[in-house]
Amino acid sequence: MEKTLVIIKPGAIQRALIGEVIKRFEQKGLQVCGIKMLQLTDEILNDHYAHLADKPFFGRIKVAMKAIPVIVCCLAGKDAVEVVHHMAGATNGRKAAFGTIRGDLSMSVQWNIIHTSDTVETAKVELDRFFNPDEVFDYKLPNLEFIYSDEELD
Ligand code: ADP
Repeated sequence: MEKTLVIIKPGAIQRALIGEVIKRFEQKGLQVCGIKMLQLTDEILNDHYAHLADKPFFGRIKVAMKAIPVIVCCLAGKDAVEVVHHMAGATNGRKAAFGTIRGDLSMSVQWNIIHTSDTVETAKVELDRFFNPDEVFDYKLPNLEFIYSDEELD
């Protein structure tokens, strides 16, 4: 199964939304293969948000992401990268579609609840950044045959 990274950001943890966020992914049929809390550092954030390094708000992003620890999750499922990224919604919580995590739970660009990998290639790099191989678990969900058809599981 394809795997992707979710970071539950400090703002969501401050607002006691950890359970709400994980519940949505579980209810969708995604599988939690790895999960842990960690404190982000400038070093990790310089890598993770390298594409934003020249933006005027880069310093603010780093302060917000270091405010308290975050929770990183490895989620697995068919087309997991696309599904999870779509579930997150647009960057700006005020503009994100209702029904998405940001659209339902955020009023902000900065405090937009979660990070999700945007491509399969990025997901591989990001999962390697945050998880050691022995922290990601492949196990069979007992209800898999009711989440996917036989054809989808091939
Ligand atoms: P996304 O998280 O939707 O993939 P980006 O990769 O463009 O979006 O940006 C990374 C994160 O940086 C966003 O999720 C958001 O928290 C923050 N960010 C983006 N633009 C701004 C901004 N103008 N002001 C403050 N924070 C921003």
